[in-house]
Amino acid sequence: MLVANPIINQPLDHPILEKSGIGLSIKRLDWVHPEVSGNKFFKLKYNLEQAQKQSTIPILTFGGAYSNHIQATAAAANSLNLKSIGVIRGEETLPLNPTLEAAQKNGMKFHYLNRSDYRKKTSPEILKDFRERFGEYYLIPEGGTNSFAIKGTAEILEPEDHNFDLLTVSIGTGGTFAGILNQMNSQQKLLGFSALKGEFIHAEIQLLLEKYDMIPKGKYEIITAYHFGGYANYQQALIDFIWWFYEQFGIPLDPIYTGKHFFGIWDKIEKGEFPKGTKILSIHTGGLQGIAGFTERTGIKLPPLSG
Ligand SMILES: *Cc1c(COP(=O)(O)O)cnc(C)c1O
Repeated sequence: MLVANPIINQPLDHPILEKSGIGLSIKRLDWVHPEVSGNKFFKLKYNLEQAQKQSTIPILTFGGAYSNHIQATAAAANSLNLKSIGVIRGEETLPLNPTLEAAQKNGMKFHYLNRSDYRKKTSPEILKDFRERFGEYYLIPEGGTNSFAIKGTAEILEPEDHNFDLLTVSIGTGGTFAGILNQMNSQQKLLGFSALKGEFIHAEIQLLLEKYDMIPKGKYEIITAYHFGGYANYQQALIDFIWWFYEQFGIPLDPIYTGKHFFGIWDKIEKGEFPKGTKILSIHTGGLQGIAGFTERTGIKLPPLSG
């Protein structure tokens, strides 16, 4: 079983918060485990418990070459002495980028699929090909969201977190959002900040809730205004915010998920969208491993690496 470090809620102190009468605390899931960071720890926990029951078969999962999920799966599997296979979108590029290098150090074997095959990665032909190549395997979907993941992410909130009025989190596939929705109380509201461009995410979350028979405990809202161009894109305003946030609070953010999420919540606070006295808990979902690859890809330095 993966073992979590104690998780703290860090209250922030800032003139803007004081002026607007908002209490803002950050739930530091980036500290949950040295290698299996953030929400991925919770998404993998019960999947790996399941896989351990058949410890002779490897875990097989999917992702892009910079994926937090790939890195986290490799590390988590290795810490439990399980083998892992990463099916990576696109062609092999050597030397490996920092994400894949870390995954390889954790024993992950890679199998590359071109973009068109990657799109069909769970079709019967491709799964049959995997079975011929690798034998039996334990499959975790891309992004890691399945019923075991939602069982895990429903453990993110702790009893004292029910004192907050508003909870906020980043959304990729929505597995983390769904788990929290399942666990909050009826007085609370959850805001999800989509890292992806487009309104499709509303329908996708709806499908996810239906698929797993989930009835949200409180209110929720999905915000699509802070994607900064889409999944792997960024804009200078986002980079500036990540530096500013680090200088103010000493908290590093990644440019794919948490940077967009925290930009969004801070923007809404500055615009006075929440009533005075609102107590907000924003969940830092980790993802900091992606910073090295981002810097390598774009030449843009981000804290804490380049301090
Ligand atoms: C994967 C990831 C997310 C998205 O989680 P979902 O459960 O797919 O919505 C958010 N933040 C970080 C840092 C992530 O790595």
